[in-house]
Amino acid sequence: MEKIDSFLTELASILPATHFTCDAGECEYYAQDWSRTLTARASAVVFPRSTDDVSKTLALAQRLRIPVVPSGGRTGLSGGAVATRGEVVLSTLKMNRIGAVHPGSMTLQVEAGAITEAVHEHCSSLGLTWPVDFASKGSSTIGGNIATNAGGIRVIRYGNTRNWVLGLTVVSMDGTIHRFNRDLEKNNTGYDFRQLLTGSEGTLGVITEATLKLCPIPKSTSLFFFSLRDFKQLLGLFDYARSCFPGLSAFECLDHASLSEVLTFRGDPLPVNSPGNVYALMELENTADSHSESALAGIFEHDLALDGIMARNDVERKKLWHYREGVAEAILTGYLVHQEDVSVPVRTLGEFYAEIQERYSSTLPGFQVFFFGHIGDGNLHIFIRKPGSMERDDFYKTAKESDFLLFKTLEKYGGSVSAEHGIGLLKKHAIGFSRTPAEIDLMRGIKLGFDPHGLMNPGKIFDQTR
Ligand SMILES: Cc1cc2nc3c(=O)[nH]c(=O)nc-3n(C[C@H](O)[C@H](O)[C@H](O)COP(=O)(O)OP(=O)(O)OC[C@H]3O[C@@H](n4cnc5c(N)ncnc54)[C@H](O)[C@@H]3O)c2cc1C
Repeated sequence: MEKIDSFLTELASILPATHFTCDAGECEYYAQDWSRTLTARASAVVFPRSTDDVSKTLALAQRLRIPVVPSGGRTGLSGGAVATRGEVVLSTLKMNRIGAVHPGSMTLQVEAGAITEAVHEHCSSLGLTWPVDFASKGSSTIGGNIATNAGGIRVIRYGNTRNWVLGLTVVSMDGTIHRFNRDLEKNNTGYDFRQLLTGSEGTLGVITEATLKLCPIPKSTSLFFFSLRDFKQLLGLFDYARSCFPGLSAFECLDHASLSEVLTFRGDPLPVNSPGNVYALMELENTADSHSESALAGIFEHDLALDGIMARNDVERKKLWHYREGVAEAILTGYLVHQEDVSVPVRTLGEFYAEIQERYSSTLPGFQVFFFGHIGDGNLHIFIRKPGSMERDDFYKTAKESDFLLFKTLEKYGGSVSAEHGIGLLKKHAIGFSRTPAEIDLMRGIKLGFDPHGLMNPGKIFDQTR
């Protein structure tokens, strides 16, 4: 307690009183993320307005040995931005300036707290975009996207966030300001710290600014929604789409249980005449309408879907996207949910899905289990709801036991226990199924170099001592 008092007293001589708070309500609010399963506890929240503010705050925290949790939009689903041990939360939300687009290099400089969707809107009038896109873009920040190496709905065409970051300004725990890669397209001068920081979940330093790479907005997109007999038919459709449509930019799926939740949540009817056991959303870029229509016809000729519709305008496009993007909110609202975000090589998806479906029906009989995700990237989200009659602790115990079987199956298929949401606190126990002890030791060594006192987002991804 004394240390925090000294920290706040000294902070008051560095930053104006409006830039930090220790109000209990605000501390509780900013200590939590979207995963909402951990008990959050922060001692203070700091809202720096510049890289310099961040530098001074961190140097002070290191001198007084105060742990710090970097925080963006708090839409993370693995507890990476959650403070559980009374740490100081450093929120970038007030550092949200967006610079001018540089048309020649197709780049944009932003502060870390800029909201993802605001960046999209900022570039759109120039026909450009930052192609990292997903349901939480209205609240997530660029710094959070980079720190989690976010994926999303167009990874199949554009790849993950790391492909779209040119330079990073990062402050390490001792207050040093680094400008990694200095916005260079070509720079083979040793280790690439920009890439190392991307996906580091706030454990190595605070990202304060980024230079983003942009790409042209496609001239047109066609969006289709299909109902399908089963997962096998879904994968058949995906193979067909991959080989026939060079402009394939999204291929997403949701099972019938997930779609039913969204429809009930929104009060919408089933968008197709024939229901399926699984549904697919397919987006094609720059495909002429006539080609889209003949493609649709080809899909039914080859028995690759039960039913399907194509969005005719922007309103319909938005509506169809919402069936997929609204799934997490519809399942989570009002319920306790255990979440998994896993991936396997795309070629093994069919076998993997069949095996885990069987495992879940034998280990979790009577539970509501939802499957949806970015199927074109081999990425499945699995959400398990707590049955109403079950105690919270019993639910987590049962879910953890079933996780063990899931992780063993992932290990067999060479999969990952966290495809795009990161490890944070919630997946820490599982990292050993995807990374070797030698790899985790290397990560510990890197962390030690950046943060010798273990104060930067401590306990996230791995514990510093074995
Ligand atoms: C409905 C919904 C849908 C989602 N869909 C997707 C999806 O399709 N794909 C996907 O990848 N994710 C998805 N997510 C997860 C989440 O939105 C992403 O992980 C996002 O990138 C997190 O950004 P944020 O600003 O909210 O970060 P936060 O949640 O605030 O933080 C996430 C991590 O980054 C660190 N961090 C934040 N800012 C900084 C910074 N400036 N410097 C250093 N470290 C920092 C934090 O310490 C934490 O470890 C979804 C979440 C929701 C709620």
